[in-house]
Parts: sequence; C-alpha cells; structure tokens
Amino acid sequence: MMFPVTFSGSGSIETGNVSGGGGGGGRGGRIALGGGAGVLVTIVALLFGLNPGDIMGGGGGSSDDTAVVSEIDKHLQSCTYEKANSDTICRIKATTVSVDRVWTDLLKGYTEPKTVIFSDTVNTACGAASSSTGPFYCPADKTAYFDPTFFDMLVKMGGSDGPLSQMYVVAHEYGHHVQNLTGSLQKGNKMGSHGATSGSVRIELQADCYAGVWAYHADKGDDALLKPLTSDQIASAIQTARAIGDDTIQGSNSNPESWTHGSSKQRVKWFSTGYKSGDPNSCDTFSASDLG
Ligand SMILES: [Zn+2]
Repeated sequence: MMFPVTFSGSGSIETGNVSGGGGGGGRGGRIALGGGAGVLVTIVALLFGLNPGDIMGGGGGSSDDTAVVSEIDKHLQSCTYEKANSDTICRIKATTVSVDRVWTDLLKGYTEPKTVIFSDTVNTACGAASSSTGPFYCPADKTAYFDPTFFDMLVKMGGSDGPLSQMYVVAHEYGHHVQNLTGSLQKGNKMGSHGATSGSVRIELQADCYAGVWAYHADKGDDALLKPLTSDQIASAIQTARAIGDDTIQGSNSNPESWTHGSSKQRVKWFSTGYKSGDPNSCDTFSASDLG
C-alpha cells in the first residue's frame, strides 16, 4: 500500500513538549523519579495492563544512557514537517502538535502533556519502564512515552506500518491525557482492571475513540496539520486497532475475563465511532451497555 505525504505543514516543528529520555541519564528532574520511591502509579499502556515497576523491579533504568538521550534530542531538533512524512521520531513529534491543536479546540481547559521519546528503559513518575511495555501514558507526570522501535514490533503483530497507524498510537496515548484531565481515567481505575466490561477496557476503548475524534479533525480547518486523509490511511489505523485487540494478542485461548484493552472488534468499533462523529461525547464507553 502506498501512502501519500501526510503533513501539510512545513518548516521546523515548534513545540517544547517533546524530548528524549531513557536510561538513568538525561535531564535534571527526570532522573530516578520513580525508582525506590515505593509508590507506583498505574500507567496506561497501549497493549498491556501493567505497572512499570512490575517489569523493572522498581529500580530499573540505572544505566547511564545520556549519550542516547542527547542523540534523540538532537534528532528531535532536526525535525521539520517535511521530515515527519518519512521519519518516525519526527512523525511522533509533529503528531503531538496536531493532537494538541485538536484538543485545545475541543476541550475547554485542555493543557498540553509532555512526550518523551526513549530508548530501552525510562524513569517516570509512575516508576521505571522498558521498551517491552510499549507506548504508555503516566498520569502522575502527564507524559506520554514512546520507544520508536515499538512500531517495528507492531508490524510483526499484524499492525500497519502506515503513517496514520503510528499517529493513531500517539493520539491514543494523548486520549489518556484527556481522560486524566476530565477525570474518566480516575473513574475507570476504580471500576476494575480486568474483564470484558472492566474499567480498564472502558478506559482503553475511550482512548481509541478519542484517537478517532482526533483523526476526524486533524485534516480540517485553517490550522489543520494533515493533508486530507485517504481511505487507505484510515484502513491502516483500523488494521492496527485490530492487531492490538486482547483476543488477537492472546490467540485462540483468549479469556475475556483477562482482557484489559478490549477485543479487536471493540477497538475497531470505538476508533471508528470517534472518527465518524468527530464528537468526544460519542466516546462515552462508561455509559455504553454494549461495548461492541
Ligand atoms: Zn491505552
């Protein structure tokens, strides 16, 4: 499948919200925030319901990867919208600008989250995490975390390598930030972490729906950063939503009682719901009696 140029913007990408992270090195204030503190805040990841500390044993990320961090920072500084059409790190950065614009218009009181692009391991206010966590959002530091190598894994899982597929993942994590601001993240956390109708599944499906809402608005209006989306591009996001359903990931022995993110059918349904309506109010997965 051939994907046309995605971004209509040009020149450097003006945002101070995206930076490099990883290892134990990097910028002051982010060092060992979670390590050893003993209090772990639940993150919301794209794929699995996990606390980062569960993976890292609470004290991970102690290696000194300052060089890697500054390499990512250097890369980020070189980003332009033109480059974002073909470069994953720059695509993540440019997408955050687009998602921020859309939510600034849609949600009164919206404040921009931060984004950290990391390699291998990263310390967050929610604990230390590794690349195996996949993309995630930490509500305690209002930051979305991405290791770009995840997108290779996503393709191996049956996801699409198309630009909008990657942008959907970014918009999904920003959807968790919106939930953090509106309180639905906190509400959902009290409604159970596992099961087909659990709070966790409702949180994740709402984030998928919010990603669809973003896609609806991303190519519209004077300040739109995306060229008109094609049906092939939308199909690539849907292919990815399908690939990361709990039942697809778990295979034939999948047990709905263990679900944390919803089935493939549900993830496709809620992304599509948001994309068709463009209205965040259509994403009320908490009131929906039938999640799909
Ligand atoms: Zn999620």
